Amino acid sequence: MQLTGELLIAGAARRGAGAPFQALDAATNEPIAQPVFHSALTADVDAACELADEAFDLYRGLPAEKRAQFLDDCAARIEALGEPLIERAMAESGLPRARLEGERARAANQLRMFAALVRSGDALDARIEPALPERQPPRTDLRFWRIGVGPVAVFGASNFPLAFSVAGGDTASALAAGCPVVVKAHPAHPGTSELVGRAIQEAVAAAGLPAGVFALLFDAGHEVGGALVQHPAIRAVGFTGSRAGGLALVRLAAARAEPIPVYAEMSSVNPNLLLPGALAARGETLAREFVASATLGCGQFCTNPGLMLGLAGAGFDAFAANAAREFSAAPAGIMLAAGILRAYERGIERLMQHPKVMTLARGAAAPGRAQAALLRVSASDLLADPTLGEEVFGPSSVLVECANEVELRAVLRKIEGQLTITLHMEAIDAELVHTLLPLIERKAGRVLANGFPTGVEVCDAMVHGGPFPATSDGRSTSVGTAAIERFLRPVCYQNLADGLLPDALRDANPLNMRRRFAGKPETPRAS
Ligand code: NAP
Repeated sequence: MQLTGELLIAGAARRGAGAPFQALDAATNEPIAQPVFHSALTADVDAACELADEAFDLYRGLPAEKRAQFLDDCAARIEALGEPLIERAMAESGLPRARLEGERARAANQLRMFAALVRSGDALDARIEPALPERQPPRTDLRFWRIGVGPVAVFGASNFPLAFSVAGGDTASALAAGCPVVVKAHPAHPGTSELVGRAIQEAVAAAGLPAGVFALLFDAGHEVGGALVQHPAIRAVGFTGSRAGGLALVRLAAARAEPIPVYAEMSSVNPNLLLPGALAARGETLAREFVASATLGCGQFCTNPGLMLGLAGAGFDAFAANAAREFSAAPAGIMLAAGILRAYERGIERLMQHPKVMTLARGAAAPGRAQAALLRVSASDLLADPTLGEEVFGPSSVLVECANEVELRAVLRKIEGQLTITLHMEAIDAELVHTLLPLIERKAGRVLANGFPTGVEVCDAMVHGGPFPATSDGRSTSVGTAAIERFLRPVCYQNLADGLLPDALRDANPLNMRRRFAGKPETPRAS
């Protein structure tokens, strides 16, 4: 597939009339010669959003099987992009082959998972409360289901160029909900974005869907993203990136004449609690596993373990010494983009210059590469200056020494909302954990025991969300089937004739779906 650097709108490719830009090789920061990408202008945003709005009713009204087949076809077409996709993504992101091949599989499986969810009808959450004419006062017939919210704007994430970008989790869940999608490509991987975007555009055409179901826009700056969020046809936004970027979009969305929700996944340091029993039983292994997790993918995971909390004592000191030794051996890493490297270096510099922060170890240094960093601070100093616990996106982590359990609780009370909180524990720690859990649940979307948070399973039971600033809306997840809920809204039909109701709510249950009927689960017929 030939890259052209064009916008994908209305089932066709067209050259943007905005500022040109080129992809940069993440390893060298040199431009990748072909192609030149051309930014969209407001007129392109208008065209993509208006077509998405026109496509919405037809797309959401498709039979479930047709929408599911379209999602399956998107998955197959992404896989069929083969080696050129992996090579382009490697050059643009600096991520290694194995990681990107895994990510491609995850992106495809995610689309197939949502296809299965669409087939099941479960996300529609159909409920029927039949009329009760004899009751005083009588009750009319009430039927509930959920429909797509309307066109969704998706901002591709820099750190998951396949699994959380053009056809990643946000796009897959929005399309599954029956919502057309307009993607703003991340400028750090535009070629990867175009390859995937063209595959989706082909799937739209092959399924005979209205072309407005999918569009891909490029921009080297903020204008297109801002215009997209403010476009009246857009009904919700999915975003992964910086806190500043996410909050800027939240403000734009809230200031619209008709405000819309922004599901922004932004900032998390993913505290790990090193409980005394675990440190005593396997402190050395824990230190090794921690450093492997903190430096994996050059630390560019939203679930990176960035804050390690433990109680003062010999076990914690030994953990610190072992982790420092492992960190010193960490190679210099390629970051996703020069801007992300600069932000990392600024963040580490700020911490290292702080009078209360001790630098325990730095990894190998190399020009244009990220140097891993392990830092240490006391809980009392962290409590006095909570900015020491803010995310520094990259291969770094801060060890926090708590004088006692009271301080540990105080830190947990003070920290901001998180995607994850991890407990490293043995049976002997269970009593303490029991008392900490209510506090931990208030702060995190996912609570783990004895593992590291960097692997995020895509499944029914996953939560990849959390209270602010982990996300802008802690009631949601961006990974797993529950991600579809962000893009659905409930509609109730009161006293509508059976012939006017959607199939999902008709008396005969022609789709043979799981529903609730008169307050009880209605079992589908055996097929
Ligand atoms: P970003 O700067 O937030 O950008 C993400 C996307 O949002 C880009 O497409 C960007 O467009 C757009 N955008 C940002 N601010 C905007 C605004 N004010 N108006 C309209 N659009 C806007 O994130 P990034 O480039 O991926 O990385 C920068 C930093 O984000 C990293 O150093 C890291 O700290 C953080 N980050 C965190 C996570 C996480 O999972 N927690 C993941 C990735 C990055 P343009 O680039 O074209 O302006």
